Amino acid sequence: MILILEPDTDATSETYQRLMAYLDELQGIDHRVHQVHGAEQVLTEVYLIGSTASLDEREMASLPAVERVIRISDAYRILGRHKDDHREASFSYNGVEFSQDNLHVFAGLCAVDNRQNVERMFQVLAEHGQTCARMGAYKPRTNPYSFQGHGADCLPWVFELAGKYGIRVVAMEITHDRQIDEIQQALEATGHPTGVMLQIGTRNTQNFELLKFAGRQSQFPVLLKRGFGITLEESLNAAEYLATEGNSSVVFCLRGMKTNMGDPHRNFVDFAHVPVVKRLTRMPVCIDPSHSVGSRAASPDGLMDMMHTTAQGVIAGANMVLVDFHPEPKRALVDGPQALTPDEMQYFLDDVRIAREAYERRRDLATAHLAGN
Ligand code: PEP
Ligand code: MN
Repeated sequence: MILILEPDTDATSETYQRLMAYLDELQGIDHRVHQVHGAEQVLTEVYLIGSTASLDEREMASLPAVERVIRISDAYRILGRHKDDHREASFSYNGVEFSQDNLHVFAGLCAVDNRQNVERMFQVLAEHGQTCARMGAYKPRTNPYSFQGHGADCLPWVFELAGKYGIRVVAMEITHDRQIDEIQQALEATGHPTGVMLQIGTRNTQNFELLKFAGRQSQFPVLLKRGFGITLEESLNAAEYLATEGNSSVVFCLRGMKTNMGDPHRNFVDFAHVPVVKRLTRMPVCIDPSHSVGSRAASPDGLMDMMHTTAQGVIAGANMVLVDFHPEPKRALVDGPQALTPDEMQYFLDDVRIAREAYERRRDLATAHLAGN
């Protein structure tokens, strides 16, 4: 059961204290408090865990500071959608709103290599009105002899450059909890010129200790990638780990599955699951066409498979696109063959816009159709 408190309820207020005193007395029921920071208000949700079947919904709704009550099913208690659950499917971070209704493009380097390329990327993004980017500093690599990323050393100048070009959110993968502190310190040292969305990659989807660490902090939202060899349910449960620890500012990313059935793509593209994730949970859904397709191969119509799959995800309602760009793909230290180039930025954004407009028209059509029935 979830108790949704009145907006902006103050934890020091007398009503809140009375509510907590009441909940403390309930036998066999634990409670956990979550705060959801929206663009305009802070919502407090109290999760009641244990033998809640005996609780009377109306009685609980009449408790001090409680606005309404939601009974939840077992799966994805915090991030899931439940019957009569009209909670917001959004959060805002550093002035950017993430929701199941809007769309952001996070283009940039798979791996930070040098200052010149990072600056060029941010500059191109700014020229195209973009405020989000991707930049990998810690790279999990299959081969131990491959470039592992510049790590903490590059963070100060990457953040400064992001700030210089008005980038508000940089998606950056972490592979160890220590790196959250390193990111925090680098942002602090540079005066918070930008913000970071912590990315947990497909190799770490079920790294439960890392998930718990990322869940225990609420400074940074988290982009969790689907595990490449586990079920969707298992990956969604991994997202729930972040939320149970306290961080429900989570975006879920589809990035393809590892199976030869997907050949010749790097992974079997799973963007048909965009609406499924939106139906099962309240998380905004990201697609990663670069790591799904893994090449710049094009079909006879002149469109790269990457552009086709991006459009497929966006027309199905995706809320974020994570995509590799590089000023000189041939010289990229990681994943050059799948990178788009700065002179393709306008083309890419225009193609995304066409697919998004088509999605919005399809959504309106469905709404009108349902209203007519
Ligand atoms: C990445 O986005 O740089 C990455 C390594 O992706 P994935 O975890 O999906 O392989
Ligand atoms: Mn990569």
